[in-house]
Amino acid sequence: MADKRDYYEVLGLSKGASEDEIKKAYRKLAKKYHPDVNKAPDAEEKFKEINEAYEVLSDPQKRQTYDQFGFAGMDGAQNFSGFSGGGFDDFGDIFSSFFGGDMGGGFGGRSYSRANTGPIRGDDRLMRLDVEFMEACFGGHKTIRVQYDETCSACGGSGAASASDIETCPTCKGRGSVLTTQRTILGVMQSQSICPDCRGTGKRIRKVCPKCAGSGFEKKNSEVDVTIPAGINDGQRLRIPGKGERGANGGPNGDLYLEIRVRPHEKFIRDGKNILLEIPITAVDATIGTTVDVPTIKGEVTMKIPAGTQEGTQLRLKGVGVPDPRGGKPGDQLCTVRIKIDKKLTAKEKALYQQLKELEDKPGKENIWDKFLNSFMN
Ligand SMILES: [Zn+2]
Ligand SMILES: [Zn+2]
Repeated sequence: MADKRDYYEVLGLSKGASEDEIKKAYRKLAKKYHPDVNKAPDAEEKFKEINEAYEVLSDPQKRQTYDQFGFAGMDGAQNFSGFSGGGFDDFGDIFSSFFGGDMGGGFGGRSYSRANTGPIRGDDRLMRLDVEFMEACFGGHKTIRVQYDETCSACGGSGAASASDIETCPTCKGRGSVLTTQRTILGVMQSQSICPDCRGTGKRIRKVCPKCAGSGFEKKNSEVDVTIPAGINDGQRLRIPGKGERGANGGPNGDLYLEIRVRPHEKFIRDGKNILLEIPITAVDATIGTTVDVPTIKGEVTMKIPAGTQEGTQLRLKGVGVPDPRGGKPGDQLCTVRIKIDKKLTAKEKALYQQLKELEDKPGKENIWDKFLNSFMN
């Protein structure tokens, strides 16, 4: 999956392209690079690339995910149907619908429509999972309820009441597809399409399974225990195999992806593995230095405030940040100093500040204000 081109770039579109523009661009390129038409060595690759881009951008939900997360969003979900397995068979249908019946003749009477009777894996599903701030930092467990389809236990997915109730489709003789011949101005054209009687399965059922009413599936409600790994971050996804949409023709279910939403904390801010926190320091402590007990996600930690600390200084507490989910070093806590000035002073404090002021104003001493003024004279 290295060096994938942006889907919009593949179709020569800008991000805000309308559905119509996407469709038009796709049609144009798909015609140009269809391997039956274009014999250039890279045509097939290009055709696949175009189809993959269209598969995503033409589906509002997939497009939104892609717009938001790019390939990273698709990353955990490389198996969204059509991303990998789709191949040509799926596109046959799209393609034949463009050319319509008559156009097919123009390309030597070849057929672009193929019946797809092989097993198809189900689509992946995406769900949101809210996680508390501390739970995301240190990990935990959550039980979620999911509903998914499972192969019917009574008929094993065949949809028939018994094995003897399944017979070969008489219309297509079990092939799943039918050939139709048409005479057009471009010549005689044959096209293959999915058998209308068995919808491509090649089989006919005499008596349907009473448990699943012939669908071959039953709805399952189950509780899944989800392990939240320590250090997981907002937007990351957890994969629950086999709990996605059901497959077709005996194909397996897709997977369920849980997209993590970390609830914000009132005080701590998460920045990857690091924690950001603002700490209030008095003017006196900032001037002469002190030690303070700073809250961290792992409890209070004693930290030195050096003499002469300025407003906005960032002081680092090593290793008290978020654990690394991959087992590396934990993050740090970055404390931003906010110097707070007391608004109410006692008479004694006021007198002491007055004394300090007199020292600063002593003739011959260049204080901060003098330095500032002098800087204008050079
Ligand atoms: Zn059944
Ligand atoms: Zn049939």
